[in-house]
Amino acid sequence: MLVLDGLSKRYGDTFAVADVSLEIPAGGFVGIIGRSGAGKSTLLRMVNRLAEPSAGRILVDGQDVTRLSGRRLHSWRADCAMIFQQFNLVGRLDVLTNVLLGRLQRTPGWRSLLKLWTHEEKAIALSALDQFDIAQVAAQRADSLSGGQQQRVAIARALVQEPRIILADEPIASLDPRNTKTVMDALLRINKHYGITVLCNLHSLDIARLYCDRLVGMAAGRVVFDGAPEALTDHV
Ligand code: ADP
Ligand code: ADP
Repeated sequence: MLVLDGLSKRYGDTFAVADVSLEIPAGGFVGIIGRSGAGKSTLLRMVNRLAEPSAGRILVDGQDVTRLSGRRLHSWRADCAMIFQQFNLVGRLDVLTNVLLGRLQRTPGWRSLLKLWTHEEKAIALSALDQFDIAQVAAQRADSLSGGQQQRVAIARALVQEPRIILADEPIASLDPRNTKTVMDALLRINKHYGITVLCNLHSLDIARLYCDRLVGMAAGRVVFDGAPEALTDHV
């Protein structure tokens, strides 16, 4: 489904990502691992064009998304839901509204811009929260929640966006072990239950081994490992 072909990103004299080629079948749960500065975040951000590639192509079902602009670029971005280390919720808004913001990508009419949501849309958002066991905090301000709860709200927001792929950039880096599990379980549910492809940058090799069906190791912008978690030996 997703093919990265000779993808590079140069900042000045340094290549943040250097000639990366990967084939990612639909429905995979791919962990990208590597030290800080390896190029993981830049790689993810090129997929939805938050960062423009310096060279290479990104093919989605054969179409090169590095060439899209305007409405078609917007549509591709809506197909990619992003999860960030710092959750990126609107803290002063309630949890349900934060989830509904994911719908804005899909229903950009005047009604949703005025946040006049239908009962049906609210029900969808509430059911998304319920799947991650946080429906009970739907009316609370987002910034009153724990980090793990906030990240699950972000995952519910991603789900109602109905993406084809989830790009998660260090989603658990600011969480304690208990919240780490609830958040990784939520991503796993999205992947297995809805078949949504997950591309996830992780700092923890243990977590990556536990949840991902494939690991891509990066160092200095290049892919240095690509395979099943069992095949990754500690000396790589
Ligand atoms: P990782 O996510 O693995 O920590 P990054 O993709 O954030 O790695 O960074 C890869 C390299 O690119 C680093 O050397 C970083 O300093 C550099 N880099 C990332 N973003 C920028 C930017 N906007 N401007 C200049 N250099 C950048
Ligand atoms: P440190 O404790 O010095 O930061 P670690 O050994 O804990 O170093 O690893 C740091 C990062 O390097 C981790 O995020 C992990 O994803 C990555 N890493 C560790 N071992 C490997 C490996 N064999 N192949 C690819 N990446 C690895």
